Amino acid sequence: MVKMKSFLVILLIILLFTLVSCQDQQNDSVEENGNHDYENSEQEDIIEFEEDEDPIEDHESDKEGEENASQEDTKEEVVNPEEVNANELGDVMVLMYHHISEPEDTWVRTPDNFRQDLQNLYDLDFRPVSLEDYAKGKINLEAGMKPVVLTFDDGRQNNFNMIEDQTGEWIIDPDSAVGILVDFHEENPDFPLEATFFINGGTPFGQEEFVRDKLEFIVANGMDIGNHSYTHANFTDLDAEELQRELGRLTKMVREYLPDYDVNTLALPFGSRPGKEELQTYLHRGGYDDIIYEHIAILEVGWQPYFSPYHINFDPLKIQRVRASEMNVDNVGMYDWINHFETGNRRPFISDGSKNTISFPKEHYEYFNESMETDRKANPF
Ligand SMILES: [Zn+2]
Repeated sequence: MVKMKSFLVILLIILLFTLVSCQDQQNDSVEENGNHDYENSEQEDIIEFEEDEDPIEDHESDKEGEENASQEDTKEEVVNPEEVNANELGDVMVLMYHHISEPEDTWVRTPDNFRQDLQNLYDLDFRPVSLEDYAKGKINLEAGMKPVVLTFDDGRQNNFNMIEDQTGEWIIDPDSAVGILVDFHEENPDFPLEATFFINGGTPFGQEEFVRDKLEFIVANGMDIGNHSYTHANFTDLDAEELQRELGRLTKMVREYLPDYDVNTLALPFGSRPGKEELQTYLHRGGYDDIIYEHIAILEVGWQPYFSPYHINFDPLKIQRVRASEMNVDNVGMYDWINHFETGNRRPFISDGSKNTISFPKEHYEYFNESMETDRKANPF
């Protein structure tokens, strides 16, 4: 009888042990799956142009991946901001490119120089953020990284060119801006594919037969299309109706290609603003036909880095840019400012790696915009 009892006890222990280990395995496999999804979303970042039948749909699944990623991010590691010299009140370069072509000139960057710019930025810990994230103060970079915004004006064919390869297949020209950005991101996945292309009406990026594919590709891969007015107009002498037609007509054109995409940023053509103060509002928002447009960021031509979105002087409707060039830049080109950042003459924005805090040396507290609407908490140190 005693023997029977102890046999039953042993059996029960074995049974319990088996149950517990089964549960452990289950937990493990859930965790593995979670990681697996996340890795997938990273790998499938770039949508192949030629194979892509519905890039918008693919982007949706990409977004799910991002949501998974942000869920994981809630367990973010806390980094001592002092250790990474965090300064989230420092300046941000919004780089302005035009042509990517040969030979190098005032408004032309050669493909090789553009590649070298990306490499230099990468090596100095700059990472691209979208113009929208910058304007809204949603800069999410690893601790110690510096945001940079990449912009391209005028929608030239050399910004996004399609060529036929030896097999007769149409591919993205590896020497066009988009080709270079995509290749660089594939080689360096921690350099996000973020850039805004400010286009005009007509045939953006040339090649009539590819306009739709190109616009879809840009948006599906997380890059953006911005407003540069329909006819590249000089705004100085336009009246209210003309301004709204220039801006609304461009928005309307993009919506015909991409019904779900909102053009919400503007780069002023020639850096021009209407002369009359009461007309400035039409740069921000207005209407044309059945279109209502609203720009959350307005970019000047400019010549210097602009304020952190958390800085008291930041105005998203007056963002200055830096010319991404070395020719005729009058000592205010991108490399001049990079030097000033490196030598400490000017302080760059350096991320604390957290989505919950805005970290900066406490002696800069007077520059912190306390009335800014954000979930992030000031973290002076
Ligand atoms: Zn322009």
